[in-house]
Amino acid sequence: MNVDLHCHSTASDGALSPGDVVRRAASLGVEMLALTDHDQLEGLREAHEAARATGIVLVDGVEISVSWRGVTLHVVGLGVDARNPALSAGLERVRSGRLQRAREMGESLERSGISGSFEGALALAENPAMVSRTHFARYLTHCGRVAGIKEAFRRYLVPGKPGYVPHRWAQLADALRWIRDAGGLAVLAHPGRYALSAGAMASLLTEFRAAGGGAIEVVTASHSPDQYALFGALAVQHGLAASRGSDFHAPDEGAELGGLPALDPRLRPVWAEWEV
Ligand code: AMP
Ligand code: MN
Ligand code: MN
Ligand code: MN
Repeated sequence: MNVDLHCHSTASDGALSPGDVVRRAASLGVEMLALTDHDQLEGLREAHEAARATGIVLVDGVEISVSWRGVTLHVVGLGVDARNPALSAGLERVRSGRLQRAREMGESLERSGISGSFEGALALAENPAMVSRTHFARYLTHCGRVAGIKEAFRRYLVPGKPGYVPHRWAQLADALRWIRDAGGLAVLAHPGRYALSAGAMASLLTEFRAAGGGAIEVVTASHSPDQYALFGALAVQHGLAASRGSDFHAPDEGAELGGLPALDPRLRPVWAEWEV
């Protein structure tokens, strides 16, 4: 079965509307899709309407931004009840600092000689409260400062670069509790992307599991084939299920919906226990 449990719409930093994401996934042969916008559940209703029309199985998801030992992590919640008050209130709190942070990113870029980036990024965000580094990256690309999104991040938007402003996101234990309260399963997103030593990764996975986390992404656009093997082994070692997700954002950025390799059949897929 072609399962893709991680993607974004205009409800966060994706370029397509929720309905268009679902229709695109269905047309590409995806059979089960989770829409996992950052800190936001707003796209799910429209996504469901499109899913009903195409017959694709839609899983209600969210990708929560977390700060852990000074590192930003992303935790995907799958199968969450979007009406759950604890989850909604938690996400609202996580979202609340984004606009101010974006303003500070703009001021910092201004000091490096790049003007108008706050307004530029904001104009590209459908929902101003969800303005993200991705919108800055698109702005820097559109105005010709960089050749593409990847270069925008590398030169301007990662720690140590002029557009990077540190931010306090949710606590790991809180994010896991919101997901669990809403009946969902917590998946550590793209673990290979975090700058952690092997020892710190082991502590993270131990803490994640102990606090109720259930799975890690093994096949994701952020991982190399070597990392599929590494994180597959870590999933087994830590008693966690494995997930697969494209982290699709836009047709011309990163991986395509449902387009990555299948999970190693020796792994326990997150969706194995769900009724389809
Ligand atoms: P934010 O939540 O505003 O910090 O933005 C994080 C988003 O930036 C992620 O969800 C990705 O979509 C995107 N992102 C982060 N790092 C990179 C990178 N190196 N290349 C491309 N996109 C990235
Ligand atoms: Mn994103
Ligand atoms: Mn992420
Ligand atoms: Mn994502």
